[in-house]
Amino acid sequence: MLFSTLSSYFEKLEATASRLALIDILADLFKHSSKEEIEKIIYLTQGRIAPFFEATEIGMAEKQVASAIAASLNLKREEVLKSYSKLGDMGLAMQSLNLKIKNQKSKIVHLTLLDLDTDSKKPLSVQEVLEVLTQIAKTSGLGTVEKRQSLLANLLRRADEKSAKYLVRIPLGNLRLGVGDPTILDGLAKAKLGDKSKRKLLEGAYNRTSDLGLIAKTLWEKGLGGVSKLQVIVGKPIRSELCERLPSAEKVIEKMKIVSVQPKYDGFRVQIHKDGEKISMFSRNLENMTNMLPELITGSLKQIKAKSAILDTEALAYNPDSEEFLPFQETTKRRRKYNIEETAKVLPLRAFAFDILYKDGQSLIDEPLSKRLEILNKTLVPDDTLIMAKTQTISDPKLLNIMLEDSISKGLEGVVIKKLESPYAAGGRNFNWVKLKRAQSGELNDTIDCVILGYVFGKGKRTAFGAGALLVGVYDDKKDEFVTVSKIGTGLSDEEWQEIHKRADKIKVAHKPARVNSVIEPSVWIKPEIVIEVLADEITRSPIHTAGSAKQNSSGEKEPGYALRFPRLVSFRTGDKKPEDATTVKELIEMHRLQNKK
Ligand code: ATP
Repeated sequence: MLFSTLSSYFEKLEATASRLALIDILADLFKHSSKEEIEKIIYLTQGRIAPFFEATEIGMAEKQVASAIAASLNLKREEVLKSYSKLGDMGLAMQSLNLKIKNQKSKIVHLTLLDLDTDSKKPLSVQEVLEVLTQIAKTSGLGTVEKRQSLLANLLRRADEKSAKYLVRIPLGNLRLGVGDPTILDGLAKAKLGDKSKRKLLEGAYNRTSDLGLIAKTLWEKGLGGVSKLQVIVGKPIRSELCERLPSAEKVIEKMKIVSVQPKYDGFRVQIHKDGEKISMFSRNLENMTNMLPELITGSLKQIKAKSAILDTEALAYNPDSEEFLPFQETTKRRRKYNIEETAKVLPLRAFAFDILYKDGQSLIDEPLSKRLEILNKTLVPDDTLIMAKTQTISDPKLLNIMLEDSISKGLEGVVIKKLESPYAAGGRNFNWVKLKRAQSGELNDTIDCVILGYVFGKGKRTAFGAGALLVGVYDDKKDEFVTVSKIGTGLSDEEWQEIHKRADKIKVAHKPARVNSVIEPSVWIKPEIVIEVLADEITRSPIHTAGSAKQNSSGEKEPGYALRFPRLVSFRTGDKKPEDATTVKELIEMHRLQNKK
């Protein structure tokens, strides 16, 4: 496929405001992709050159991309940067500069000058683009910056205008076509299996490998049978199992009978993969964190007694002087890309291992938890970096209450209760795992992770910051859509408004994004990217919000949505949660049900 053809699809994806149209466009694109190209096309559609969990960043800063554009168009870099700062997007800057040059050239009508470089205009194929971008990513050592710039400039010289617009966005990591993984799976199902509802047949492999390119390639080469056979692979993150909620220890035992109880450590999740001497680590949203956590690499090599293994752990910062674990706000300082060695000295991490999912060539996800914990115990050599999570098996609600109190008094979040005989439900949130946290009377027990969808201009003092209320939503994982739950105006300081404004301005869009479903029309739409943690008093029903609303219920009436009463911002969750990791509609409905039971 020519890269210009792929760019035409990108253009259509970017312009549509409907999710069903996104699926149709993707399905059409995939139908036109050969088995040699489909994997590459998937990664490029995700704005990447490899699956996003691989650390293959192209690694070019804005100024470097601007230099490459300048070289390809024979302009000064300053001119490119000026256009970029005006338009706020490198793709648009490229487009506008191209247009300007074209207009100038068209004034010199019959000069054959334009035809001089026809050779260098040989159309670019998807294959070539991916090869060059990979070469850029792999360039290292002396003169890296110049080499990368010149490789990109050469690509741009050969690209048509549309292709150039998308080409410059990829090295900056902001292709952002607004397609989520479930939408890509829908597109694949529609293209190859005839119907988007057949996505379910691909989901198992997706939960085990997280690699959409691999799934597509296997589907194209070996059909559905091949995809079903895709197993856990060391080096590819398994999608995390998550917790459901129940209102009390009594309800937990009633529903789950005999359970394993572990403290809910309040740090960040790290999935550790050991493959011989190679360690890779992934966050809860499956980003590659290996380079951020050097002490966990050393600890894993020393303590995991297996040739290959995958461990599920929670990492916490530890104060070696006071020998205490630090609160989440401190731990989260370790999620950074700079000064890693120094920060690791001040805030070393410990990882509490609470599950093992693979060992020495064998997937363990279908084994019962009790057996997995036994294997984990035998695999982990006791030392002080990787620590076995404390697990107790109980069936008495009183004991469970004592353990919950004990955890909270130690400054932990609560407890996680797990069904003893349950397999590991990759990517699942069900009653195999349940979390119990401290109850805050009068308020919901738990915060809700919302995605900012837009903002409404305020009146009075706050207009100075350009925002009066945020329109926020949760995620409908079945439909891959963001649906509204609230407008938030309180709980934000002036600084926070400014911060939101700064971030939101970069991702402003002219029309409602295709994956957003809202009745409310805010003053400004933004791409659903910023995740915030929100506390509310209650979940109520509301006809103006789309979370959980249905066009018609069984008696033919319109079913109202769910909304938050007295919502206030607690924190920003960007970095640690992707928009698709926000609270789901299903969870919200479940929280609403629990709240009414209290
Ligand atoms: P929260 O915002 O409450 O952490 P969440 O949506 O991130 O919620 P939950 O499903 O509520 O995730 O809780 C699971 C998270 O708890 C895991 O992702 C993990 O990071 C953390 N955790 C801490 N201790 C454990 C444990 N013993 N077993 C499983 N998960 C644990």
